[in-house]
Amino acid sequence: MKTVVEKLTFNPFQENTYIVHDGNSCVIIDPGCFSREEEEALVQCIEANGLTPVAVLLTHGHLDHIAGLDFVNRKYGVDVYLQETDLFTFRGSHIAANLYGLRGFIQPEEPNKLLKGDEILIFGEMEFQVLFTPGHSMGHVVYYNKQDGYVINGDVIMRGSHGRTDLPGGDYPTLKRSIVETMFSLPDETVVYSGHGPETSIGIEKQINPILHF
Ligand SMILES: [Zn+2]
Repeated sequence: MKTVVEKLTFNPFQENTYIVHDGNSCVIIDPGCFSREEEEALVQCIEANGLTPVAVLLTHGHLDHIAGLDFVNRKYGVDVYLQETDLFTFRGSHIAANLYGLRGFIQPEEPNKLLKGDEILIFGEMEFQVLFTPGHSMGHVVYYNKQDGYVINGDVIMRGSHGRTDLPGGDYPTLKRSIVETMFSLPDETVVYSGHGPETSIGIEKQINPILHF
């Protein structure tokens, strides 16, 4: 069966959290829920669809993508996946929380499943290929669902834009390489679900993304 992608937008950074499911199991990607209401919205989405969470997938360890991880760990206690290099980013989240004044942020327990890149992850009917796409952060990965033609891409591509590279561990030439060599090798019709803002596609970004010109 085709998998379903549910999108919820959370926290002061307007981060997109995705719940991907096959009708039975779900994975929670980049849980950014921060307020009590946002935590309830996440649980509501899972329960209304009758889903059992089986894993948390992180594209990277930035504060806005893990703001709800401690809550999700305590609520569901499932495996948490992160690329091993991005533990650096993950461990700095409480410092970022102080800088941005995100009071009440709880530094979550470290992920127990460390990725390198190129793994195939299978959960129920869902299959994701892990693609290593550093540049926005040192160990950023995206989760590509080939069967259903989409990629959960975190902060690599945003519609008509791309992730910033001025944060610790960011590097513009590296991000450009990740987009041009890795992301643009996916089929044009691939839907791109971003960590911020609306969906786009690989074909659209090949036309409009400014990273091609700088
Ligand atoms: Zn980020």
